[in-house]
Amino acid sequence: MKLCEKNGVKFFTFENIEKTGIVNHCFSTRVGGVSEGKFKSLNLAYNCGDNGESVTENFKRICQANDMDYTKMVFGKQIHDTKIKNVTTGDCGCGVVFESNIDGFDGYITNQPDVVLVTFHADCVPLFFVDTVKKVIALSHSGWKGTVRKMAKATVKEMQTVFECNPKDIVAAIGPSIGECCFQVDKPVVDEFLTEMEFASKYIRNDQNAEGKFKIDLWGINRELMIEAGILAKNIEVTDYCTMCHDDLFYSHRKMGEERGSLAAFLSLKS
Ligand SMILES: [Zn+2]
Repeated sequence: MKLCEKNGVKFFTFENIEKTGIVNHCFSTRVGGVSEGKFKSLNLAYNCGDNGESVTENFKRICQANDMDYTKMVFGKQIHDTKIKNVTTGDCGCGVVFESNIDGFDGYITNQPDVVLVTFHADCVPLFFVDTVKKVIALSHSGWKGTVRKMAKATVKEMQTVFECNPKDIVAAIGPSIGECCFQVDKPVVDEFLTEMEFASKYIRNDQNAEGKFKIDLWGINRELMIEAGILAKNIEVTDYCTMCHDDLFYSHRKMGEERGSLAAFLSLKS
């Protein structure tokens, strides 16, 4: 993963995704936009109290920096579940040109060029998928609830069901989100993970600084879920940026609560 800057806009890209040559993609930072105050500056959420015109300008900037058309974006309301929507050029503009009519999906999939898939994040894990043979892409939002519900596997399964993708052809990436360093949880959350996946214990440890608290490595768990789904380990790139540690670059829900803007992941097949 590398931090890039274009026209003052900072964003992250993944080397393995870029190398496929068939997509445009990025993960945004809060740097390079026009929003002010707690939204400073590249806020990408319309529904958090920020000025709508500022948000649109921010979308234009981040899309322009990555050769994507902001009027082709597709997004909706995410609910920390694992439903995935197959979207087409008919959905382009959903959320930005016209009011979003997509509700209840935390992942999107498409095989159509120029459709710009967008998911929103502020600590929750973004998952990128590119099938280089079938030319199918998917983008998912996987917070701890999505992770415990195995969003990574659900996304690969949808790619297989809808487009007959072979997991071995999929290049994947796990983007900036809350790291093990900061993701402190209580026992009930730990128990959910241990109930849902045997391997989870490898990614959970006692918090040395807080009695009865635990730390969970969501990046490791999502990577392992991708491998269980059949993606080759060598095809998975994992972030090393924690969104809570770097408040110069990111909005963090854990750190800022509702007083914040939103980051976004973008993925689009080139035409
Ligand atoms: Zn951290």
